[in-house]
Amino acid sequence: MFPSSPDPLVLETIDRICKNEIPRFQGEAHYNTVPRALFKVFGDAGVAGLAVPEAFGGIAASASTSAAAFDLISRYDMGPAIFISVHAMACGLITRFGSADQKSSLLPKLASGDLLAAFALTEPGAGSDAQSLTTEAVQDGASFVLKGGKCYITSAGFADLYVVFARTADASGSGISAFLVPPGIEGFSIGSPEKKMGCELSPIASLFFDGARVPASALLGPLHQGFKVALSGLAGGRVNIAACANGLSRAALDAAVRHLKERRQFGRPLAEFQGLQFMVADMHSRLEASRLLTERAAADLDSPSASISSTRLSSSVAKCFATDSAMSITTDAVQLLGGAGYIREYAVERYMRDAKMLQIVEGSNQIQRMIISRELLDGQD
Ligand SMILES: Cc1cc2nc3c(=O)[nH]c(=O)nc-3n(C[C@H](O)[C@H](O)[C@H](O)COP(=O)(O)OP(=O)(O)OC[C@H]3O[C@@H](n4cnc5c(N)ncnc54)[C@H](O)[C@@H]3O)c2cc1C
Repeated sequence: MFPSSPDPLVLETIDRICKNEIPRFQGEAHYNTVPRALFKVFGDAGVAGLAVPEAFGGIAASASTSAAAFDLISRYDMGPAIFISVHAMACGLITRFGSADQKSSLLPKLASGDLLAAFALTEPGAGSDAQSLTTEAVQDGASFVLKGGKCYITSAGFADLYVVFARTADASGSGISAFLVPPGIEGFSIGSPEKKMGCELSPIASLFFDGARVPASALLGPLHQGFKVALSGLAGGRVNIAACANGLSRAALDAAVRHLKERRQFGRPLAEFQGLQFMVADMHSRLEASRLLTERAAADLDSPSASISSTRLSSSVAKCFATDSAMSITTDAVQLLGGAGYIREYAVERYMRDAKMLQIVEGSNQIQRMIISRELLDGQD
């Protein structure tokens, strides 16, 4: 139906890694960490280089292949899918906007999984309204001095490289620039991992800049064009978040169907009660619609002829619909398992907690609805 299709070889490799490797990292000992050994296994298999060109050691996967990869990983555990998708977004930005030096020095190590990247846009005072960010980067000779802070940054404390968005001119979107900032430099510190509702294998924390100095060569893309850099990463990011939602929904629906067939009440399997059959039918229909919207959005990203406007629209529709569907499907799965659904051992409560995150990140679903309605009502690129 859609012109681009995922690469089956990449997906086979990912499925094998997920089955063999993820379970040993799912214990509490690894909560609130990025398990670097796991990231390296993905790196060795090419998955850390999904968004890196082959010339720099990556696999330059299509948006369709990337989306299918994140869908698959999320069926096992959403944490690795999230930190790898953020890493892929940062790699994509370096590929598109990096200087020759930035690309040759960073991309091969990012593709191999030796370096992990993070994306730092959100601030305590600037979330949905990211353009209002106040972290500043003041030019001082051949360097920029960063002052301010970021919050909720995925992989903070574990990443080797942060794409940091900071204000370099007036108070609008056109006064923001992007910088590549390594940890460990003077004036740059990182908070403790936040204690959060779910997604335990993908930590978030705050970044604090107090006079951190980076060379002018750390600028990613043109001066004052950082907001465009950020936006260019978000369309692909949203499709990947939709894909994560579909992976969670698939895992939840499979668990619910298994349970309905096995569990007996009133002398019959639960699967024989029509009220529950109808719930399963609705869950399946929502997942199918979400998958098709996600494939459509990925195909738009892969199509050289798709307009910016149609890509923005399809990625926001997919993100909003698939993540709202995942919230509904995972909540229904908990209900269908009854008491067992509320117990950690059965995993569906984890899917439900993880689904909530997806309605908030990469532009909340209210923001997606604003983008969708703006595209329809203003109708311009
Ligand atoms: C687990 C997790 C990981 C994250 N990872 C990253 C990361 O790696 N990098 C990064 O930069 N950020 C990251 N974030 C931050 C995330 O992108 C923001 O939380 C998100 O953009 C929402 O911003 P906010 O939390 O400030 O909410 P707010 O902007 O304060 O919004 C609060 C509520 O109001 C709604 N709202 C806001 N404005 C409007 C409006 N105009 N109309 C209608 N409703 C509105 C929102 O939808 C939301 O429901 C992460 C967050 C989480 C929870």
